[in-house]
Amino acid sequence: MGKRLPMQGEKTIVGHITDGLGKIAVALRNQAWEGGTVRRLTPTQGQILVLLGERKGQSVRLNDVASALCLSAATVSDAVITLVEKQLVKKERLAEDQRALVLTLTAAGRREAQQTAGWTEVVEAGVETLTPDEQAVFLRGLTKVIHSLQGQGVISVARMCAGCTYFQPYVHADAARPHHCGLVNKPMGEGQLRLDCSDYVPGEEADQLRRWQTFVSGGEGR
Ligand code: SF4
Repeated sequence: MGKRLPMQGEKTIVGHITDGLGKIAVALRNQAWEGGTVRRLTPTQGQILVLLGERKGQSVRLNDVASALCLSAATVSDAVITLVEKQLVKKERLAEDQRALVLTLTAAGRREAQQTAGWTEVVEAGVETLTPDEQAVFLRGLTKVIHSLQGQGVISVARMCAGCTYFQPYVHADAARPHHCGLVNKPMGEGQLRLDCSDYVPGEEADQLRRWQTFVSGGEGR
């Protein structure tokens, strides 16, 4: 009798995909540790710098960072104390609410954030090997996986198109760009779905559910 193909092992495709996502997470973590060792930053400190760099011009509080990175407020607080000591991050009071402290990057922090953002390049190179159609399918798949993680309460609310009040799924006949972003008033394709949009507005729960159902059903019943 011939040998069984390894693919015919006990694992389902769900198990294989989960393994794959785990390997991507390990690659990112390894890059973060390697880059961080050179720059004397932990992965958490690096993630905070990148996040503050991405949210430049917005009022980012400690809780916003904890929520975006799925970390506890205590973990973020410890990392921020170190970043302030390293003069990479500043804590400032909000002009309109003197009790609120917001986090901003110093000039050195901005430089460091740019270097640190390069940690994801290896994964980006991998994603770039996918065709545009494969990337769009992958992005849609990630949207659904993240939505499920959100529903299970293991990550905070992601600022994704699929949950945004401006998102109108499957309102256009053009199969390449069936969705619509009401904020910019433009059609959008699957490859343009956002997983973290600074203009995201959640809206009413019932509307979110209706929007999500239309999105996952591929627009059926509209
Ligand atoms: S505002 Fe942002 S999250 Fe909302 S639909 Fe437009 S692109 Fe998507």
